[in-house]
Amino acid sequence: MDAEIIAVGSELLTAGRIDTNSLYLTGQLNALGVEVVVKEVVGDHRGRLAEVIRQAMRRARIVILTGGLGPTEDDVTRDAVAEALDRRQIFHEEICLQIEERFRLMRRRMADVNKRQAFIIEGAEVLPNDRGTAPGQWIDEKDCSLLLLPGPPHELEAMFGRLCLPRLERIVPRQVIRVRTFRVAGMGESDLDQLIAPVYTKYQNPATTILSGPGDIQIHLRACCTSEAEALALLEEVGQPIEALLGENIYSRDGEPLEAAVGGLLRKLQATLAVAESCTGGMLAERITSVPGSSDYFRGGFITYTNRMKQQLLGVPEDILKEHGPVSAQAAEAMAAGARLRTGSTFALSVTGIAGPEGGTAETPVGTIYVGLAGPSGAEACRRRFLGDRARVRAFAAQMALDTLRRRCATVSK
Ligand code: AMP
Ligand code: MG
Repeated sequence: MDAEIIAVGSELLTAGRIDTNSLYLTGQLNALGVEVVVKEVVGDHRGRLAEVIRQAMRRARIVILTGGLGPTEDDVTRDAVAEALDRRQIFHEEICLQIEERFRLMRRRMADVNKRQAFIIEGAEVLPNDRGTAPGQWIDEKDCSLLLLPGPPHELEAMFGRLCLPRLERIVPRQVIRVRTFRVAGMGESDLDQLIAPVYTKYQNPATTILSGPGDIQIHLRACCTSEAEALALLEEVGQPIEALLGENIYSRDGEPLEAAVGGLLRKLQATLAVAESCTGGMLAERITSVPGSSDYFRGGFITYTNRMKQQLLGVPEDILKEHGPVSAQAAEAMAAGARLRTGSTFALSVTGIAGPEGGTAETPVGTIYVGLAGPSGAEACRRRFLGDRARVRAFAAQMALDTLRRRCATVSK
């Protein structure tokens, strides 16, 4: 079953405010097995809103409107719904008295404009608001249920949970949504898609979404079925060939981040880790220590930005820095070897590179990164070049370092 959400309010079309109600509603609807297929934001304009409502009701079985139920002139949801459905609005004396009572409890006098909130669309069921003045409304028209909910999130959430969910449970056929998330490192988005598109494009269910970040791609498979067993079987049917095609490039099958996957591998090997960072300035250590329990394997790190610090803290030989420069395979290897030796760790990772925007040369352009890895069998380094601004290059570099270690751990544990 499909739903559409329409967030009403001109403030939601400014640079300063964002519609968050639809995020809450989507989570609740998905849990019921209802797919949200369209979300819209409409300013406080009766005619435009009426048009959007008409279109949504032609497409979806459930349409939820949030906001625009206040007492002022700019709150146009009631009027727009009346126009779209060609129904009258009826004044409810008892709702007006309830609103008046609410004001009395706050020791305030109700303004006349608040009476507008006591108007209910002909044939609508009233959804009492126990947290504010604007009642919600539930309207059934042909095959569509139209819900009018207040804008303030705490009012909307209370009303939806208490009054709308039980009603929706009665009309929504039993559906289960299950998601599988693969995460992939060390591959470009287009290469990945070329490889797996022949598999997932054969299926509409599960729906496949591919999200790409610096050095990190997420593949979401979303199955919507009548039973959990059916959904899981479908995820397996599509997930298995994807796994086979991507092989070792997949680092997570449940959405966990790369630093957690690396932590799991280190723990399994009973190995320890240290880091030596130059251009990432601590990002690597930050990611590693963001995982609870990382003290089991992480020993510590060095942020060595200058040549002097690389020499003093890591023992990188002056000759290497003079001959090859601090952004070189030799420097990356020596940094990793030094960090490993000085912390007594099983492995040490190092990162050195040119994050930009300045400092590049013809041989070592901006975006050049060396990752060093020292382990029981010696130290080695690899070079890559990433395109993008400083933040992106640094994010890529930290990801590349973690992925280098992950691949090494995976070989060792075989
Ligand atoms: P309204 O019901 O349109 O008078 O909205 C009242 C208040 O609710 C607004 O000023 C916003 O702070 C908040 N609000 C309205 N719509 C949303 C939304 N879609 N997401 C988050 N907050 C909202
Ligand atoms: Mg508003």
